[in-house]
Amino acid sequence: MTEMTAHVRVENLRKTYQTRQDEIEAIHEVKMDVAEGEFISILGPSGCGKSTLLMIVGGLLPLTSGTVSVGGEDVSKPRRDTGVVFQAPVLMPWRTILKNVLFPIESLGLREEDYIDRAYELLEMTGLSNFAQNVPSELSGGMQQRVAICRALIHNPNLLLMDEPFSALDAMTRDLMNQELLRIWEEYKKTVLFVTHSIREAVFLSDRVFVMSPRPAVISEIVTIDLPRPRELAIEETPEFNQYVAHLRGLIEH
Ligand code: ADP
Ligand code: MG
Repeated sequence: MTEMTAHVRVENLRKTYQTRQDEIEAIHEVKMDVAEGEFISILGPSGCGKSTLLMIVGGLLPLTSGTVSVGGEDVSKPRRDTGVVFQAPVLMPWRTILKNVLFPIESLGLREEDYIDRAYELLEMTGLSNFAQNVPSELSGGMQQRVAICRALIHNPNLLLMDEPFSALDAMTRDLMNQELLRIWEEYKKTVLFVTHSIREAVFLSDRVFVMSPRPAVISEIVTIDLPRPRELAIEETPEFNQYVAHLRGLIEH
C-alpha cells in the first residue's frame, strides 16, 4: 500500500496502562495500514487490547509510543471525521430518537437545522423513520444500536470505529444488523474498523481481518477475505466462507 492511499496508519504503536500497583502492557507493537473505504475487522480474544487500539485510533486514549494517523494527520484528540459506536448504545433516555441522532451536531456546535434531513435519511435507511419522536426505552436493543449507528454517521465522518457493537444482541438480531451494516457501508463507502471476537462476523463483514495475539497485543496475521460482494447471509453456508472461518480459528488457537 502506498503512502497516498492509507487512510488509517498505525506504526510501532505501544500502549502501557499505569495502575497504582504496576504497569500493564496492553499493546506491545501494532502496525497497520488501512485504505480509504476498506472494511477491516480486528479479531482477538477478550482482554487482548482491541478496545485499547480502537480508542487510540479514535483519539479517545493517549498512546505510549508510536504514531497513529488518520487522513495523514496525527491523532491526538477526537476528530470530526471519525464516528464511534460502542458495545452499548448509550442513548440519552430523555431525548427523542431524532434528538439522540442529532446530538453530535449539537456538541460540534453545528446548526441542527442543516442536519435534520440527513437524520431522517439515516433513520429511514435503518428502518427507524417511524420512531423519530419516540424515546429510547420504547425501542428494542437492536433498534437502539441502530440509533447509535445513525448518531455516529450524522456528521458524515469518513471513518467509522465500531467496538463489538452487536455483541449484546441475540444471534438473529445480530445477523440482521450485520446485513444492515454492510448495506450502509456499500451505500456510503466509509472506512470501517470493526472490533469483534466473533470469527464468523469478521469473515462475513470484512475485506481484511487483522488477528491480534493475546495481550500484550501484536497483529499476528492479516487475512484477506476474498468473497464476492454484496454478501447475503446465505454466504455463510458456502465452503469458501467456512474455510476462512476454520483458517482464522486455527490462527487464534495458536
Ligand atoms: P479487549 O477490548 O480486547 O477485550 P482491552 O483493550 O479492553 O481489551 O484491554 C486490554 C488489556 O488492558 C486488558 O488486560 C485490560 O485489563 C487492560 N486495561 C484496559 N483498560 C485499562 C485501564 N484503564 N487501566 C489498566 N488496565 C487496563
Ligand atoms: Mg473490548
